[in-house]
Amino acid sequence: MSVDPTKPYDPENIFAKILRGEIPCNKVYEDEWSLAFHDINPQADVHILVIPKGEYVSWDDFSAKAPADEIAGFVRAVGHVAREQGLVVRGYRLLGNVGRNGGQEVPHLHVHLFGGGPLGPMLA
Ligand code: ADP
Repeated sequence: MSVDPTKPYDPENIFAKILRGEIPCNKVYEDEWSLAFHDINPQADVHILVIPKGEYVSWDDFSAKAPADEIAGFVRAVGHVAREQGLVVRGYRLLGNVGRNGGQEVPHLHVHLFGGGPLGPMLA
């Protein structure tokens, strides 16, 4: 079911469980602010999800409510993962789905990072 970005954060969502270590993930990076792991259903040769550790449903509440250091930490983590994965020279794609029209299914903010080869017009 699509996420309603106006609803309060649900601490039982699957990414919250990954952050608490209750279910496993294939981790590629972690720091104070963020966690990055391989998508379980990859849509490209490289398909990584980067999530903030804070409790944000989507880009909407993150951009409105997160402290500046948390926003900076998360944005830096996304760029760091792309560099660490060697995606910069050939390029990559970032995608953030918000709510029903955006096709968001998991109610914890995540950025999709796609790369590893030419990407079609739309993914995720
Ligand atoms: P969509 O599924 O339409 O892309 P989202 O933007 O909410 O919607 O993306 C959720 C992403 O989370 C999907 O790409 C899905 O494959 C991925 N995913 C779901 N559960 C897990 C999991 N346990 N580990 C890794 N990735 C997951």
